[in-house]
Amino acid sequence: MVISPINEAPDGAEARSATRDGPDCDLTVTQDLPTRNSTGDARPPSHVLVTGGAGYIGSHMALALLEREPSTRVTVVDNLLRGHRGAIDALVKVGGARLRFEQIDLLDTARLTAALVADPPDAVLHFAALTSVPESVEKPLDYFRTNLGGGLSLLEAMRAAGVSRLVFSSTAATYGEPAPESMPITESTPQRPINPYGLAKLQFEDVLRAQCAAPRQPKPLAAVALRYFNVAGADALCRVGEDHRPETHLVPIALEVALGKRPHLTIFGDDYPTRDGTCIRDYVHVSDLVDAHLAALGALEPGAFRAWNIGIGRGHSVREVVESVRRVTGHAIPTVMGTRRAGDPAALFADPSAIARDLGWTARFTTLDAMVESAWRWMQANPQGYR
Ligand code: UDP
Repeated sequence: MVISPINEAPDGAEARSATRDGPDCDLTVTQDLPTRNSTGDARPPSHVLVTGGAGYIGSHMALALLEREPSTRVTVVDNLLRGHRGAIDALVKVGGARLRFEQIDLLDTARLTAALVADPPDAVLHFAALTSVPESVEKPLDYFRTNLGGGLSLLEAMRAAGVSRLVFSSTAATYGEPAPESMPITESTPQRPINPYGLAKLQFEDVLRAQCAAPRQPKPLAAVALRYFNVAGADALCRVGEDHRPETHLVPIALEVALGKRPHLTIFGDDYPTRDGTCIRDYVHVSDLVDAHLAALGALEPGAFRAWNIGIGRGHSVREVVESVRRVTGHAIPTVMGTRRAGDPAALFADPSAIARDLGWTARFTTLDAMVESAWRWMQANPQGYR
């Protein structure tokens, strides 16, 4: 695969040229961004079901399918508990009648089955989930019900409709807290989650593995789990972006401080065994993540369960993220030192070489500043998020 040139400037140098003054999201913006190339030769199927397509990552996925493949139809299933009607509106603007929206809770197996049987997709991209580690520690039942139970219900509906291809949003949280000598994390690093979010995602991976191995007519299940590290950034044209309510993620919280919506950012602990004492994570741009799904669709094989890590292969500390937000936005980001947040491993970063080797996917956004700049543009254009 030919990789497009990427901006290899150090984060600081890149930020100076990328800093913007106003909330503009026009077509010229794309010229600032790394050129995108196709990941693999696989063509998306003609009808794709995107669960959680009104949420952050699912909406970017649906948008890419509608935009890049003029003949692809997309059905979004979302209960709009965390997803946004505004994201659906944005998708309809791009896809018109090729976008169908079904407001269904995945736990409603009967309605979900009816929707799939009426119009079976060729493949399912399963994003719908609760996604906050601290929330999962407080409300484990919600996480097992939604993230494991919702997945089981989806598999039942797929079986009833004869749908046998699935790409699942898994997570680095399934690895738990690997020893420092196990960094970077490969797909064979032992999965020992330390919070209910990671545990429920791992349990659904196990379900998929068993289901792929089970005999099934006319074809056994084909499944891929993509284990995301931390996701940031937004659509280059700001049609969709990140809007969690409540927001718990580091990059958008720091940007809300830049925007004046919050007085400060609380750093959850600086006594971790890391280079500056704060937690280290591997941030990947949402558009790169979407590309990985397109590549994964082409790798689905009946009877096979496969898993790949999705990250850039380098970690950034909480302090480094705050510095990046200062550089990119030009605003002070006051911080307050807090205690450790329950369920947080000290450091997580990926070895993404397996998916590069197997599917030809690598991240095009390789600097934190480029990701923060993209998220900042969305936030400036949509200071209240979706309305
Ligand atoms: N974090 C922080 N302050 C915040 C939000 C997050 O210090 O207000 C830290 C958090 O403890 C973790 C890192 O930022 O070490 C990334 O957290 P996030 O919630 O964005 O993603 P997670 O790694 O939990 O999926």
